[in-house]
This record gives sequence, C-alpha cells and structure tokens, in this order.
Amino acid sequence: AIAKPEPAPHLRPVVASREPQPVIVKLDQVYKSFGDNQVLKGVSFEVARGEMIAIIGASGSGKSTALRCIDRLETIDSGSIEVAGIRVDDPQVDLHKLRREVGIVFQSYNLFPHLNVLENVMLALRHVKQQDKAEARRVALAALAQVGLDEKANAYPEQLSGGQQQRVAIARSLAMAPKVMLFDEVTSALDPQLTGEVLRVMEDLAANGMTMLLVTHEMNFAKRVADRIIYMHQGRVWEVGPGEMLDHPYTPELQAFLAADL
Ligand code: ADP
Ligand code: MG
Repeated sequence: AIAKPEPAPHLRPVVASREPQPVIVKLDQVYKSFGDNQVLKGVSFEVARGEMIAIIGASGSGKSTALRCIDRLETIDSGSIEVAGIRVDDPQVDLHKLRREVGIVFQSYNLFPHLNVLENVMLALRHVKQQDKAEARRVALAALAQVGLDEKANAYPEQLSGGQQQRVAIARSLAMAPKVMLFDEVTSALDPQLTGEVLRVMEDLAANGMTMLLVTHEMNFAKRVADRIIYMHQGRVWEVGPGEMLDHPYTPELQAFLAADL
C-alpha cells in the first residue's frame, strides 16, 4: 500500500461535526503594508457559516489589521477578501452594503453618552436601516434581551459597568442582523470579573449559530468555544487547528507564545 501523504502538520484537519456550510468570509493571499512595514504577508483563511474562529498571536502580529481589512477600515495591497459574496477589495465596493453584513466590536465600546442604552442600539436601525421608530425599538429590545440587558434600556452608559457597556455595544451590532460578527479584544479593557459576562454573551451567540471571528487573549475561552483557532505570527497564519492545538502546539513559535502567556 502507498502511504497517504500527511497534511502539513501546522494546518491540522478539523473533524467536521456538521454539514459543510457556505463560506462567509474568505481571505486569499492578503498583503498589507503601512509604509515599509509589511504587516500582512499572504494571509489566507475562511470562516464558514455558523463557525466561531479565534485569532490569537503576539501584539503586532497583524490580528487587528486583518479584522479591519475585512470591514474595509483598511484597504489591502494585494490578494482578495470576500464577505457574504461581496468583494471587499473591489475599489467600487458598496461600503453601506458591506457594513450591513459585518458587525464589528472593539475594545472601546464608543457608546454615545447623551443617549440611553435603547437609543444607542436604535440609532443605526433608524438611520442606516431606515426602520420606523416602533420597529427599531422592537429590534433593539430583542438585541438587548440577547445580551441580558433589556432591563437597562433606559439607563445611560455612565450608569453601567464596563462589561455592561460592552454588552450594549455587542447588542448594537447584533441588532443590525449581520452575517458575521468580528470582535477585536473586546474584553481586554475589562476587570476579570466583568470579562466573564462578556465572554458568556459571545459563547451564547456562538451557540445560537452566529458566524464569528474574534481576536482574543482569553486562551481558555478560545480553546473551549472556538471551532478553530488561528495563530498569527509576524503577519502570517502560522498554525491552525481545533482548540486542542493549544495543548499540543506544533510550532516552536506557538509553544513560546503560549508559554509566555501563562
Ligand atoms: P495586533 O492586533 O496583532 O497587535 P496590529 O494589526 O494592530 O497587530 O498591528 C500590526 C502592525 O501594524 C504593528 O506593527 C502596528 O504598529 C502596525 N499598524 C497597525 N495599524 C497601523 C496604522 N494605521 N498605521 C501604521 N502602522 C499600523
Ligand atoms: Mg490588535
């Protein structure tokens, strides 16, 4: 018998647990430089519908840039990015359409301090989705209920904890019914006890089938909840695999990264 060639060990196959799903996000050989600093060096990966993928890696490895390119907050130098059938790298891309499909949540929640929680969540529904007041209110309250904050609808941001404010920011994105949600270190500014409540909201979203791509430092969370983990190193996808890959890192770089993190 002829031995089957092993797959590249740093791209471990993930055992399929369900029907193949359409690809929602696809990066193919993405390059991006800021001046002479090449930050993304041929990044390729896909996120299928309903998948939750966690990106980990050292500070400066290009994680945020990759996420920002997906929502076209940055343009790429070469390669291609497709989101829900939209070619993001097309110079003529319809940014309004793209941003209706992509929800993005950052470390800083950027709520409007002069608007209450409900008004913060309703804002884009009214102005971007052109929903009437009653409809926007209904959708916003449903999104707030999903993050467990419908009872805080009339509170102002300053009356909420950091964790609650971040959950409002998630609800604001969620209310737009995006096809994929991107999270960039959304718990990094929070105390450990507030981190848990935000992670639980994200775990809930994943369990309910939301397609998610998140950059995180929460290794245990990534390991437990993510379908796949992408380890980025110096602008490249260095190692990809299921959560257990963190127990058995293949590359010396991931070994060193995990050892430094503990
Ligand atoms: P990470 O999120 O993994 O920490 P980033 O994507 O934020 O990494 O940054 C990767 C590199 O790109 C860093 O060297 C950073 O200084 C640089 N960089 C990011 N954004 C910009 C920008 N807008 N202008 C210039 N350099 C940037
Ligand atoms: Mg970052």
